[in-house]
Amino acid sequence: MTLTAATRLAAVVGRPIRHSLSPVLHNAWLEAAGLDGAYVALSVSEGRFGAFVDALRGGSLTGVNVTLPFKTEALAAADIASERALAAGAANLLLFDPDGQVRADNTDGEGLLYAFARQAPDFRPDHGPLVIFGAGGAARGAAAAFLAAGCPEVRIVNRTRSRAEDLASLFGQKVRVGEPGDRSLLEDAAALVNASSAGLAEGAPPPQDLGSAPARAVAMDMTYRPLRTAFLAAAEGRGLRTVDGLDMLIGQAIPSFEAFFGQPPPAGADVRGRVLRILGEAT
Ligand code: NDP
Repeated sequence: MTLTAATRLAAVVGRPIRHSLSPVLHNAWLEAAGLDGAYVALSVSEGRFGAFVDALRGGSLTGVNVTLPFKTEALAAADIASERALAAGAANLLLFDPDGQVRADNTDGEGLLYAFARQAPDFRPDHGPLVIFGAGGAARGAAAAFLAAGCPEVRIVNRTRSRAEDLASLFGQKVRVGEPGDRSLLEDAAALVNASSAGLAEGAPPPQDLGSAPARAVAMDMTYRPLRTAFLAAAEGRGLRTVDGLDMLIGQAIPSFEAFFGQPPPAGADVRGRVLRILGEAT
């Protein structure tokens, strides 16, 4: 890759950020497309995110992806926000216009639906209720994306009930709170999404016994380190179709790439295979 004075530069911003796989995805696409661009990872100190965004006003970077713990601050720092960023209450994408304006978007929900489309192609969000384990930012984004795509009901199951109730109160009657361990919640579910970060811990058990889920249900885990989580293993053991978090990561990166570099990622670049090799997983 040759960098020139005309290189378009984008980044992912978070803290910690060294584990991020986003530079691998975007730089593989840039290389395959032969574009004069680069994508780096940046860490920002606590309390400095607003100052960081202000310093980039005017477009020295075309934009940034934003990850933990700055997604809510990113939405607040922007001048304009897309409807889906407002619905998710968070932004994972900031774009810096030449006139100094900052635009916020959220492509995580699109990434989630992309992952379902890739790994469970005949699934549609309007097939039935969605059960979400977790009530953080990712759960909120998932609820917003599924409701916008026609899902009839979302059930939030979370360790801290008050947090689930806060989330449900943002959406109205189609979102309700379920009790952890309540088997009846799963009985007519079309999809189960694990949006809890508990699975990041090695050997963490699945959030709930999946024995009452119907055989047609699709189970998805947002965690991709490890890729085959205990939740997905339990779903497979129950005979359910599964969707992993890596395709969600790729799915949120696709519209980000287009926004940064002015064209969609090139077809045929095997970014999933590249990331799987880094994760030490078979391709
Ligand atoms: P948050 O920190 O906002 O929320 C974490 C959630 O996990 C909370 O509901 C929390 O429950 C729950 N949780 C954490 N530890 C435990 C535990 N030991 N037992 C039970 N519940 C627990 O994180 P996000 O919502 O932003 O992200 C959630 C996960 O999704 C992360 O693993 C993240 O990496 C992943 N993610 C993946 C993406 C992808 O592209 N694949 C995109 C976005 C997120 P409580 O409220 O009780 O604390």
